[in-house]
Amino acid sequence: MPLLVMKFGGTSVADLDRIANAAEKVKREVDRGYDVIVIVSAMSGKTNELVGWVEQTSPLFDAREYDAVVSSGENVTAGLMALRLQEMDVPARSWQGWQVPLQTTSAHSSARIEDIPRANLDRKFAEGMKVAVVAGFQGVSPEGRITTLGRGGSDTTAVAFAAAFEAERCDIYTDVDGVYTTDPRIEDKARKLEKIAFEEMLELASLGAKVLQTRSVELAMRYKVRLRVLSSFEDNDDNAGTLVCAEEDIVESNVVAGVAYSRDEAKMTLISVADRPGIAAAIFGPLSEAGVNVDMIVQNISEEGRTDMTFSCPVDQVARAERAMNGARDKGEIQFSELVADTDVAKVSVVGIGMRSHAGVAARMFAALSQEGINIKVITTSEIKISVLIDRKYMELAVQALHDTFELDKAA
Ligand code: ASP
Ligand code: MG
Repeated sequence: MPLLVMKFGGTSVADLDRIANAAEKVKREVDRGYDVIVIVSAMSGKTNELVGWVEQTSPLFDAREYDAVVSSGENVTAGLMALRLQEMDVPARSWQGWQVPLQTTSAHSSARIEDIPRANLDRKFAEGMKVAVVAGFQGVSPEGRITTLGRGGSDTTAVAFAAAFEAERCDIYTDVDGVYTTDPRIEDKARKLEKIAFEEMLELASLGAKVLQTRSVELAMRYKVRLRVLSSFEDNDDNAGTLVCAEEDIVESNVVAGVAYSRDEAKMTLISVADRPGIAAAIFGPLSEAGVNVDMIVQNISEEGRTDMTFSCPVDQVARAERAMNGARDKGEIQFSELVADTDVAKVSVVGIGMRSHAGVAARMFAALSQEGINIKVITTSEIKISVLIDRKYMELAVQALHDTFELDKAA
């Protein structure tokens, strides 16, 4: 029997009406001859509420109990979805992570999936179950404790099931109708993409296009799971939404696929550090130990054996970064004259696999920004991405200018 994975996010199961609406979509696929594994999120807002309850009860909480509480939102929606399907005469039952079992590492609140043995679900499918409704976001550790996969983790649950059960496709139903060239709230000419390559989606996901958890895209890329992002509030035809797929499956694409942004960045500069072997390790080691997510790094040309080191990180990690750097200085591991934090910056990036074979993307990008009078503070590039840090107040303007310059409103 061909098999589909269908994942419904929090807004798609936010109340009983929406669960019924999602169940209709599942039934349609069953009627077309598919066995279906449905992955559900908690009702929207529920997980936040549960996290709040844990924090209020125990500020330095036991991570195992955090997972026990926070995973429970998905148990409710899984059971309700199974009941709804049964009401529609679809043979369905719910599965919590441990029942499958979805086996994970013991890293509570950010566990990784180790294995999904197929036997239990396969047996039930063979006995006539048509739909397995699985609680997303949760699993079980080798110690037998409940784990969760990190916020947004039910996307990753869905892709992992699609890989393990060799699903024809993994459909991610959400509150938007696909992946856009940029955020339509910033640029009204933003266009929905028909297809996007895994690598592009990975860059866009990690750059803050919040449609999919980054881990889920990594997993899809590794196991070549065809992922489709589509709206649960529309009647979809077979070509609805955006297909996230291998590069080979995309015939024509623009050089730049999309413009991404991340609003809450900070730029930190260590002034006058010694330019000696080991200095980068001495700086970024303590930062990583302190849990600072360093993104861009630039080291200036050295003068008389001293140099400036600049890095960016999320703005809410500035205090942590300062503490780490001052601590390293107190221990004599590094020296610097000053640590300057610029907390009013944003990152804007253009992403596209076409950049590998087309020169001049950077030049066009910088020209467009200069035409708007936007000063670039830091630049980094990779094979398929160019990112700049700019003053936050110009972020929207920069996104619009780049969308225009690369004519992203037009399909290739
Ligand atoms: N309910 C979890 C969260 O809100 C997991 C998910 O929805 O993907 O993060
Ligand atoms: Mg999500």
